[in-house]
This record gives sequence, structure tokens and C-alpha cells, in this order.
Amino acid sequence: MSEVPILKETTRTTGREALRNNITAAMALAGAVRTTLGPLGQDKLLIDDEGRTMVTNDGVTVLESAKVEHPVAKMLINASTTQDRIARDGTTSAVLLSAELLQNAWELVLQGVHPSAIARGYRQAEEACRGHFAELIIEANDDQMLAAARTALSGKIHGAMQIHLAELAVKAATAVVEERPTGNVADPTRVKILTQTGGSMTDSSVVTGLVLAKKRVSDRMPKHLASGKIALVDGGLERREIMSNVKLNVSDTGVLESFRQKEKAILLEQINHLVDLGVTLLACKDGIDDDVHSALCEAGIQAYRRVARSDLDLLARGTNATLSHDIKGLRKTDLGVFIKSTNERWNGVMHWIVETEEGGATFVAKGSTNETVGEVERCFGDALGVACQLLEEPHLLAGGGATQVALARHLRRFAEGFAGREQLAVEAFADALEIVPRTLAQNAGLDPLDSLLQTVAQQATDGTSAAHHIGLNVEKKVPSNMVSDGVVEPLRITRQVLAGATEAALSVLRIDDVLWAKQDPTAPDLPGGDETETGP
Ligand code: ADP
Ligand code: MG
Repeated sequence: MSEVPILKETTRTTGREALRNNITAAMALAGAVRTTLGPLGQDKLLIDDEGRTMVTNDGVTVLESAKVEHPVAKMLINASTTQDRIARDGTTSAVLLSAELLQNAWELVLQGVHPSAIARGYRQAEEACRGHFAELIIEANDDQMLAAARTALSGKIHGAMQIHLAELAVKAATAVVEERPTGNVADPTRVKILTQTGGSMTDSSVVTGLVLAKKRVSDRMPKHLASGKIALVDGGLERREIMSNVKLNVSDTGVLESFRQKEKAILLEQINHLVDLGVTLLACKDGIDDDVHSALCEAGIQAYRRVARSDLDLLARGTNATLSHDIKGLRKTDLGVFIKSTNERWNGVMHWIVETEEGGATFVAKGSTNETVGEVERCFGDALGVACQLLEEPHLLAGGGATQVALARHLRRFAEGFAGREQLAVEAFADALEIVPRTLAQNAGLDPLDSLLQTVAQQATDGTSAAHHIGLNVEKKVPSNMVSDGVVEPLRITRQVLAGATEAALSVLRIDDVLWAKQDPTAPDLPGGDETETGP
């Protein structure tokens, strides 16, 4: 029997051929983002099916919008997406490193090293790097936190704005950090983003507390409230709509009137319930009927209707309140506390500002056009991610390839301890790490090899305890102390780049058989062929 019937409709590649094809796909993918790495990286113009355009130099954005068919390329894109989710940065580096690990593995395969020996060596190398981080990390102080937030913006926006956004990001992150017994938690999603088109991007600011572009339901309600209790309702304070299939038989005009009165009485009862609970601030997801406004005003309640669910969630986290489905069911324990609630007019629009004990901050993104506001918002998000990470784990590493060069030097010494073929794999891992400084140099128009050799030599001969801070500063175009230059990154980014890239490379190395279905079953049949049309 020559062919197993079940594999009839498939194209099969096995062994080396399969590995070679997969590695070619990985290299092609890396080639697509290589030129975007670093502050002097180039931008890509992305055009979608409908002709919409976007200019970006963010690796993961490029990859996610590319129409990639190859399954191995998709695996690497997934690694890059995970990188984005966990560390919010380092996406280009992750793809470059995994492709480089695979390319170096291929060269070892050609020399007769089995992929499983390479996989073992790679795993040990990654572990050795993790063990070595302790000697490379720098404890982040306030200045370095600013520098790290700024490094995340290098190449994405102009210099003055980098400094401004880095300061705002640190301010916002500090406002949302929570001290827990297990350590600090700084969740960037607790920072509310408010966008305003018009004005200059340098006018963007951070306000402590939550700011919503909302107006209280009646001007007669108090404009400013000092501390008090807040109720959050995932519903409204309004009459129920009469269902369309319900028939009301009105025999007398008074019946309808008493029906309405009864409905209003139910709403007033709910307001009384709020007064009994001592609520002075009310936010509802749905409407608040006009004819109960005066009752709310008399009760001294400041009320807001049609508040977005996401904003209610932010309010709940800031005030420690629990969202209730209706007012009737509200209990004392569901209420939250606020320090201040005010209304201010900004550029002709009323805004509601709530300050709470649990902190919370709002970033007001400004810019002259929608595009610039979007850019400011994205950049702020990147810097905020870094600031939040550092408040949770205040460890930094030197950027500009300094850390990768130091790790590669460490691995080469570590490799000497191996007698078997894993030694070659550990060395190949060290070589692969150098893709970061090499690519940074190339994108800065420098010779990648010369720049790398200079950096390695300076680290080796430096002799001080700061040798591993020496990297390639692409702005100065020479090796330099990256920590003094303020190019630093959270440890979490590099740790995740290494873990993610190694994992992705290992899963590709494990494949030795690729079965492609000859025809994609999800593809629609092409028109034409031998079928004749039937019908009237
Ligand atoms: P990624 O998607 O991997 O984060 P980036 O395009 O953001 O890619 O580039 C990040 C790299 O650029 C990091 O290795 C960082 O250390 C480096 N970098 C940032 N600023 C400088 C600089 N002035 N000189 C050299 N390298 C820098
Ligand atoms: Mg980056």
C-alpha cells in the first residue's frame, strides 16, 4: 500500500523539508517588521480591504493586520500578541528573536544536530538568562521610571511630547496603584481616557478622579457635593414601557390618570429609599424620567442618566460601590463613598468630576485632528503600561541592546560547561540574542557587525560594575551607558520576549510533519466549472 487513504487529499512534507519551509516562513515574517525596531525604525503604511490607511511602526499592529496564511507565521504572530498582552511592549523584538532562534537552529540541523538536542539547549539557555537577570536589574527610582516611560515612546512621537506624556503616565499610574498584601497592583484600565479634538496635543492632561463628559439631569440639582454616598444602578429611574402585546381597556378617563399616578408613586418610593439610605449621588445606566427630577432636586441628590456601563464599572472600583440592578433592591452595603463631586464647563461642554478615596485618574487626550488625538491616546497607553508595570515590579534593564549583549556574553561562558551538543545550541541562543543590537544598528544606518563588536568589546573591557549598561545609543551612534542616557525598560518586557520567543521557536522545532489539506474546505467554490445553472 503506497498511500494511506486518509491522507489522499493532502500535500505532505516531512522531516528536514518541513522544518526548512517553516523556518523560511518565520524569517519572512521577521523581515516584514525588522525595519521598525528602535527609535530610528521606519514606519509602515497599512492599507486594508476597504482602502483605509494607517501609518505605524508598531510590530504587533503590522503583523495583526497582515493577511498571513502560513500556520507557522501565525504561531509567531500569536507569540507577539501574547507579548503585547502581558508586557504591552517588545512585540517586534519577540518576533525577531524567535525567527533568529529558528534560523540558527536550522544551521545546527544542517551540521547534524537533532532538533530535540537544540530544543534542550535552548530551554537551558533561556533558564540561564532568567537566572542572570538578578545581576543585571536596576531598582527603579522616580527619575528612572520617567526615563522608562519615555523610552517606550522613543520614535513614536516628538521629543517634547515624549517627556510630557511620560510625566502624565507616571502621574496617572500613581493615582491608580493599590497596595495589597501580595504587593502593589496598578491596573492601567482604571485610568479613564477622555478624548477632545481641538487645541494642541501639548494641552493633554491628567486629572485625579474620574471625569465624564456628562451633565447632571437638572440644573437645579447641587452643582458641587462634598463627600457622601453614591448609588450605582445598572438600570434606570423611569416608567416601564408598556409591552406592545398588552391591551389596556380604559373605561373611564380617570383610570388612565390613576394608572400614571401609581407609576409615579412607585418612582417616588424609590427616591425615598435613596433618601433613607443617605445617598446624595446617583448614576444610572438607563434613563431618569423628567417628572421625577424635582423630587430628586428636593432630596438634594445629584443624578446622572445614561452613564456608560464601562464608566459605571470605573466608578464602582473608585468608590467601592456595587452595581445594583434596580433602586428598590439597593442595600447600604452596595453604596460607595466619594470625596467630591463637581460639574465644570470645559470648552463649552459640561463635565462631571468625581474624586474618590480609591484613587482613579482621567487622561484628557487633546489634539488638532482625530488622528493626532488617536496618536496621543496610543502613546499615552504605551507609557502608562510601563509606569504601571514599574509600580508593580520596580525592576529595570538597560536598553539599546545592552542587556542582550550582556546575556549573550554570560551564555557563552555558561555553554563551556556543556560537553554535549547542547553546547552548540546554547551558543546559537547567544548569537540569536544579538539580533536586537544588530537590528538597532542597521535601522540607524550603522554597520550592524561593527557596532555589535564595538559594544561587546566595550562591555568586556569596561571593568566597572556598570559594564552591562553599555549598549548602542542610536542617537549618539556609538556605544554608551544606556542607563545614564535614560534608555531603560521594565524587566518584564525582556523576560517575556525571551520566554515567548523561546516557546514559539521550540514549538516550530517540534514539528517534523506538515500536512496541508489540498483544498481549503472553508473556501467558497469558484464560479464556472462543469455545473450548469438550474432554475426558472
Ligand atoms: P518593540 O516592538 O520590540 O518594543 P521598538 O520599536 O519599540 O520595538 O524598539 C524597542 C527597542 O529600541 C528596545 O530594544 C530599546 O532598548 C531600543 N531603544 C530605544 N531607545 C533607544 C536609543 N536611544 N538607542 C538605542 N536603542 C534604543
Ligand atoms: Mg516598543
